[in-house]
Amino acid sequence: MTQPLSSLPRPQLTAIRMLATDIDGTMTVAGRIALPVLRAWERAHDAGLRVLLVTGRSSGEALGLARYLPHATWAIAENGARLLIPDEPPELLVPPRPTEHLHDVAQQIAGKKALRPTADAFAREGDLAFERDGRTDAEVAELQRRAAVQGVELIWSSVHIHLSAHVPDKGEAVLKIAARWGVAAHEIATIGDSHNDEGLWRANRFGVTVGTAETARLQLRHAPDWRTDAVGGLGWCEFIEAWLAAR
Ligand SMILES: [Mg+2]
Repeated sequence: MTQPLSSLPRPQLTAIRMLATDIDGTMTVAGRIALPVLRAWERAHDAGLRVLLVTGRSSGEALGLARYLPHATWAIAENGARLLIPDEPPELLVPPRPTEHLHDVAQQIAGKKALRPTADAFAREGDLAFERDGRTDAEVAELQRRAAVQGVELIWSSVHIHLSAHVPDKGEAVLKIAARWGVAAHEIATIGDSHNDEGLWRANRFGVTVGTAETARLQLRHAPDWRTDAVGGLGWCEFIEAWLAAR
C-alpha cells in the first residue's frame, strides 16, 4: 500500500546514493524539465546523489539529455531497451526487435482508430511507439489485452503506447547499470509517474520506491511504496528535499 512520502522514516533514505528517475511527468512541469528540478538536482549532486535517467522516450532524446543535462551521465531509453552513453554506440539491453511483426500486431489490435507511430521512430530500435492520441487508460488497457492475445507486450506512459516482443522493464535495466556502477539495489531510490514505471516499483527490488502524486489515480500491478504530495517535477523536488534532509 502506497503511503505519503512525508511519512517515510528518514533513516530509510540515508542508505540511498543513486536515484533512477523517469523523465516525462516526473521531472517535468508542462512538458519541460523544470528549473526547480535542475536546482534540486544540483544540490543533490553536490551531496553525492547519482541520478540515472530512465525514460520511455527514444534513444535519440535520451542521448541528448545524457550529454547536455549538467549532471547526467548515462541514460536508459525505450523503457529499458537501450543504454545511451555519450560518445559510445547505443547498447541494446533486450533481444532485437521483430519490427514487421510488431507493426502487424499494432494494425490488428487498433480497430477503427489506427495507432499512429511516434515521430521519433527514426531514433528508436528497442520497441515500437505510438501516440496515445487521447486514449483513456481503460482504452489502452483494452489494447493491451488484445496485444497479449498475440503474444506481444504493450505498456503505456502519459504520452505514448509501446509495443515489444520482450517484457519491458525499466527496473531490470536499472539493476544492470547499477551493477556496473557498483551500487547495490538497497542503495537505489526510484521515482516515476505512470504505468511504464512499474518495473521501478516492483516490491523488494529497490531501497525506496516513489511515485509522483499522479500515481494515486492509476490502477497498478506494482505500486510504489511512497507517493509525493506534489505533482510532476514538483514531486521530484519533494523527494530530493526529503533525501537532502536525511543527510
Ligand atoms: Mg512518465
